[in-house]
Order: sequence, then C-alpha cells, then structure tokens
Amino acid sequence: SRPRLGISACLLGHNVRWDGGQKRSRFLADVLGAHVDWVPVCPELELGLGVPRETLRLVGLPSRPRLVAPRSGQDHTEAMESLAAARAEALAKEDLCGFVLKKDSPSCGLERVRVYRESGVPLKDGAGVFARALRARLPALPVEEEGRLEDSALRERFVERVFALRRWKDALA
Ligand code: SF4
Repeated sequence: SRPRLGISACLLGHNVRWDGGQKRSRFLADVLGAHVDWVPVCPELELGLGVPRETLRLVGLPSRPRLVAPRSGQDHTEAMESLAAARAEALAKEDLCGFVLKKDSPSCGLERVRVYRESGVPLKDGAGVFARALRARLPALPVEEEGRLEDSALRERFVERVFALRRWKDALA
C-alpha cells in the first residue's frame, strides 16, 4: 500500500502561515506526492491562532524554550506543548511511515531553529515545540525537514527509509 506521511500543511500549499501565505514544495506536492498519501498538520492553526496571526518565536534556553508572540507578549508554551503531545499521540495511530517538517518554524522546525536569548540575540540551536513532541512520541519515525530534502543524497535516503518502513509494516500485517 502507499505510505502515509505527515507534513507541515504549508508545504502542500495550504494558506496557513502567519501572513496567510504558504510554502508549497513542488517536489513534495507533485513528485513524492504522486506516490504517498499526505496527512497535513498545522500546529499553530490547530491551536486556534488563526490566519493571519502574530508571528511566534522561541525564547530562553534551547533545552526547553518558551513559545511567545513578541509583539503582544502572549505566551503559548503550555498550550502548544499540550496540543503537540495530544497531536503526536493521535498521529501515532495514523500508520505513518514518515514526516516532513517546515524548517525554521518555532512550532515545526526540526533543528537549527532560532532561540532568542534574554539579550535579544538569537542562536540557531533550538527545535520547534511540535517537532520535539513528535520526535519524543515517535522516535523511530523517519522525519526530515523540507530544506534538507533539496540535497539529493538526503532525499534518497529519506524516501528509502519511508518505503522500507511501509514494506516492513505490510509484511507484518
Ligand atoms: Fe503551520 Fe508549521 Fe507551516 Fe507554521 S510551519 S504554517 S505552524 S504547518
């Protein structure tokens, strides 16, 4: 059967970004999309933040940064952590063979996400709140960022892992 993969919804062209835009990836939507079924997720939309919305950023320590909206000062950390844990739990029942995340996002980014220190200076050493919950709940799931999939060797390895997992699941079924 076709592998099911989770994906940050903006990468499929859904207009869910803070400014109402999207980040459609032609490779994901058209090329890989011809061979897999996507399960789109937008954690910020599912949190009820709406479109358009204030931009968010990670602030504090990279091990457990806070998710804040700097203009209004609203802190969404606990709400997003709880949504992300519940969403990861639900996704664990979706028979997924992989997940593609949007890079640099304080919710979806897998690594090298900016974390603003108290001084106001950011260092690229964090991970998005949803991405962390997904990794914690599904540590064996092949997960990649869309930016890294532009590298043909990484893309090939990711696609191989996804289809190998599908074959393994089918063999067990
Ligand atoms: Fe939504 Fe994640 Fe895309 Fe941001 S990066 S718009 S939270 S899916």
